Amino acid sequence: MRVKIWGARGSVPSPGPETVRYGGNTSCVQVTLSDGTLLALDAGTGIRSMGLGLAEPARPVHILLTHLHMDHIQGLMFFGPAFDPTSEIVIWGPEAPDASLRDRIARYISAPLSPVEVRELPCHVSFNEAPHSEWKIGPATIRAASVTHRGPTLGYRITEGDVSLCYIPDHEPALGADLRDDGPEWISGFELARGATVLMHDGQYTSDEYSRRVGWGHSRLADALAFGRRVGAKRLVVFHHDPLHSDDFLDALQGDAVERWADLGGEPTSLEFAVERRELSVDRLPRSAASASATPEPRPARGGGAARGGGGSAPSRESSRSP
Ligand SMILES: [Zn+2]
Ligand SMILES: [Zn+2]
Repeated sequence: MRVKIWGARGSVPSPGPETVRYGGNTSCVQVTLSDGTLLALDAGTGIRSMGLGLAEPARPVHILLTHLHMDHIQGLMFFGPAFDPTSEIVIWGPEAPDASLRDRIARYISAPLSPVEVRELPCHVSFNEAPHSEWKIGPATIRAASVTHRGPTLGYRITEGDVSLCYIPDHEPALGADLRDDGPEWISGFELARGATVLMHDGQYTSDEYSRRVGWGHSRLADALAFGRRVGAKRLVVFHHDPLHSDDFLDALQGDAVERWADLGGEPTSLEFAVERRELSVDRLPRSAASASATPEPRPARGGGAARGGGGSAPSRESSRSP
């Protein structure tokens, strides 16, 4: 499985001289499976560049949307294959009680926000609410689970062979949960991310910023690290950088994060911040590195019964998806 980051910024595109290294495009990650099957995780402004780089648009492209906030769909209208009559696009995303995925996306791809309507797109496009059980795309098994964010939001896990990529770009698992002590069933996204070869996870805020944004649906860096360690991710890629965080600021934050990651028992080389245009190879780690990041035995949950409140939507749906 090969991965290329086309956009790692959160909230709003933030081009400029301060963001050239980590990039200013919003969420989009290209995944190429072993047989060449193409996935795009989210369709932020980064998907425009991904489209320009595709040699053969006729191959189906599967776009897996975590949710429909603008920073995750804005690039759809600028994705080259959407305007190629020979190309096929399959869009997956969260279900919602008010309207179908197609109708909700059409609120963006329609007047007055767009010059074209969904029905006018020249490509072959289909829309699918993500199933509650695992499904196959090419040689990979895909799993989706609801996670704590604002509005219906999914995280994805893509497994091919014995490696897995877990992508949860917008996530506030610490809302109403203690990431160190609560049992797995109380922690949003836990089962989805457990033991992932690579976990790409929201780490938008510093602790100071987070103190004024609790409930906004994003993680402070400290919680991203705690979550990554708790689920036993072999490698953590911090994602969804705040638009106000310059390259120099992110460099400093990353240095601090590596130290804190090591304090939590993580391998310093298994933590990095997402950088636009960077390619990652999702491979099995050598045995020593894999065992070094094994998760400790989770403690039993406090109490029992219904999921605790806390303003988020998870983990109720995720629990219901578990076998
Ligand atoms: Zn976002
Ligand atoms: Zn969002």
